[in-house]
Amino acid sequence: MDLSRTLAGLGTALLTAALLAEPAAAAPGGSPSSRDFGNGAERNEVAALNPVSALSRTLGVQSMDSAQGRWTPKLKGYPRQNQLTVYPENPDDRSIKLGLIPYHGIAPKLNALQDVSDKVSAEVIGKSAGGRDLYLVTVTAPESAADAKKQDYWRNLIEDNPWAAKRDKALAKSYKTPVWINANIHGNEWEGTDGALRVIERLATATDAATVNFLKKSRVYVTVTNNPDGRVAGTRANGAGFDINRDHATNAQPESRAVRDVVIGTQPFVMLDEHGYTGTTLIEPATPPHGQNYEYDLYIKHALPNALGMEAAIQKLGYAETTRADIPFRDYAPGDWDDWPPIFTPMYAIYQGAVGHTVEIPLAVNNANYTNLPVEELRRRSAINTDVAAATIEAALTYADTNKASLLAGQIEQFRRGWAGEASPVIPDGFVDGFGPEDRYSTTFPRAYVIPAGTPAAARLVNHLIDNDVRVTKALHGFALNGRRYDAGTYLVDMHQPKRGLANVLLEAGRDISDLVPQMYDISGWSHGLLWGATVDISRNAAPKVFTKPVAHAALEGSVDARKGSALQLTIKDGNDVRAVNELLTQGIKLRRTDAATVVVPAEARPEATALATSLGVRFSAAPKNVKGDVFDQPVIAGAVSADELFALKEMGFAVQTVSTALLNAGASLSETDTLLVSSGLSYAGLNATGKATVDAFLARGGGVVTRGATGANFNAATKLLPAVATAGRGDANGVVNVVNSGPIVGAGSLPHSFVYSPLWFTGSGFTVEQRYGAVPLVAGHWQPNAAGTNGPAQAAGQAAVVSGATAGGGSAVLFGTEPLFRAHPKGLFAQYARALFWTAS
Ligand SMILES: [Zn+2]
Repeated sequence: MDLSRTLAGLGTALLTAALLAEPAAAAPGGSPSSRDFGNGAERNEVAALNPVSALSRTLGVQSMDSAQGRWTPKLKGYPRQNQLTVYPENPDDRSIKLGLIPYHGIAPKLNALQDVSDKVSAEVIGKSAGGRDLYLVTVTAPESAADAKKQDYWRNLIEDNPWAAKRDKALAKSYKTPVWINANIHGNEWEGTDGALRVIERLATATDAATVNFLKKSRVYVTVTNNPDGRVAGTRANGAGFDINRDHATNAQPESRAVRDVVIGTQPFVMLDEHGYTGTTLIEPATPPHGQNYEYDLYIKHALPNALGMEAAIQKLGYAETTRADIPFRDYAPGDWDDWPPIFTPMYAIYQGAVGHTVEIPLAVNNANYTNLPVEELRRRSAINTDVAAATIEAALTYADTNKASLLAGQIEQFRRGWAGEASPVIPDGFVDGFGPEDRYSTTFPRAYVIPAGTPAAARLVNHLIDNDVRVTKALHGFALNGRRYDAGTYLVDMHQPKRGLANVLLEAGRDISDLVPQMYDISGWSHGLLWGATVDISRNAAPKVFTKPVAHAALEGSVDARKGSALQLTIKDGNDVRAVNELLTQGIKLRRTDAATVVVPAEARPEATALATSLGVRFSAAPKNVKGDVFDQPVIAGAVSADELFALKEMGFAVQTVSTALLNAGASLSETDTLLVSSGLSYAGLNATGKATVDAFLARGGGVVTRGATGANFNAATKLLPAVATAGRGDANGVVNVVNSGPIVGAGSLPHSFVYSPLWFTGSGFTVEQRYGAVPLVAGHWQPNAAGTNGPAQAAGQAAVVSGATAGGGSAVLFGTEPLFRAHPKGLFAQYARALFWTAS
């Protein structure tokens, strides 16, 4: 999180206002003064560019389904000193101007520390989207292999058998306090890395009894930079254009997968995520709404005093800029800095048993400041920021050490409640200073989730749950539950499990919190249960009565269900179906479509189809005899799209030529293009004569167009594509919505739910309504009407959310008021966007 969103958000607000609605209301004084929209302003304003070769090899459908090489703790003693690969100096690394350590300096520094100290172990736990090493440093007193094995045993015992862990006196005495520091997840919030390295160095080289003793009782884990691509480039996002600190429920990016595996593998009592820059240092705990799946009593009991300890530590630094901290729980109004969604590292870590804190160091050195401030001032600020980062880390280490017994008991209790299926306790007012009714959020956990197998969506969801350490089993025989029959092989998530909070926060529908707080920091709705395309049934009370076995990995279960010699048919319902179609087209196989969702594969391509059924889990059936259909090719796509959309399109196997206002003005061609995607960074009004001529000629010859969001709706209005008039909800309105599918393309077989961020709806006539908002649109999230009481869910009810039609030039267009590719999250919506793409391209 950071306040660069203040300026960035304004840009989007103006853009949105220019089209339609008023921007989000300003926040009350003394708190963050504006909201950021979506994936940052760049989401609608800056078109993504096709990444360089180092990046492209990490993109692809693999991330939809297959587990990558995962970091797990090794059964070895400490130190585990790995000579890290040293990379060439990069004089363009943006850290250098600030007097901070550049990415290429980190490996030599860690190698040198490992040379002089037997307390430092460095390893590579993964690669960034841009192919850079992600480092984990462990600082602890030396351990024999047997010592380390014992620590691993205890860590597992806490999760697997909290009752036994609680009784284990040796564990209480000798389990090393695990603390995890994550630094630099936003690449242009640099100094967490430098502060953490300073602390590592001190711990590694100190000879005083207190430090030596501390390291005998503790393991300090540091992910030194969680975003080396951004550190080098001076960007918030990683090399694929993703905000990693919004990706923890989705794990689209290797950086979030790496720290997911660290938090699962190390099970920290306390974790800090070091960010910047908020002017005044900011230290969580956060404001309400608090995630309703937390064991919040166990969290806030430690989070608040730990924050107070960190505040005292920065005060001791003696700078005028560090006389106090903002502690949102204590200092901000509800909704100004909430911990509702599990997309942020510390919020995600709470579900894994940690007391997680975002820390925002104070003095801005990024964006315009980076360019405009004198180097001396930048370095003055960065030096203070580094001191603040180091001071907060040291204070948290002290807190964890001092409160080890209580933190251990809290983690044991969190997992025990899960196993026991106990309700989370009602927390009384005054439980900690300032805890009141506005802080009280809780849920009733269902008894189980049931996920029928056999689709790529089911396998994807189950593997995502398993990767996040949610326990999933598989029925060994058929069974009945709540009046329904389920086959053998059905997946079960028994909610009597240690990480039930995480299981529930991913699978539940969520909650409409629009009336509870005036605004929210980021998304307020998500649901893997409703948006990832798998059937997810909820058993509120009844436990499934069936023999099961644990699932380590859900296999894809594709098939070719047709007689040899029969033409095959594939229904485009899932992103993997789309991927299969694109693979077949790439292989030169002649495909036909009988409607927007049905693809016919010639009988001769059975071997290729069989291979894809295996690799992608898709299901081919027999096509009707003598079926015809229209031949179609792989679409040639030009896209002015956001980075997340570009990523999702590549996951589905589409090749995209990226375009923008600037590129079209500079002469980029659309002469070979079948479909133009417009959602980010393409303004018709901003085109010069060259750009306008290119776009006009493209539309005049019947080129297809798919738009999304305000940028797309503006383009539709400016080019008079479809006579649909767009109306916008509040810019920060977002969540899971009910939809009614009616049209033949997007509406064909789509889920009854969708996702919106800055929702749009369309009025007018002369087009086909593909999808409408439901009578009660919002299922979960935050969507208030604007100040005049309009443009809210009540006004959107029943209105067209997605429309299609013919353009004046004889082409086809589809306009999305929803967000089917948002942050590559709603996997179950991808196929509807792809159907629009195929349809407009032909
Ligand atoms: Zn940040």
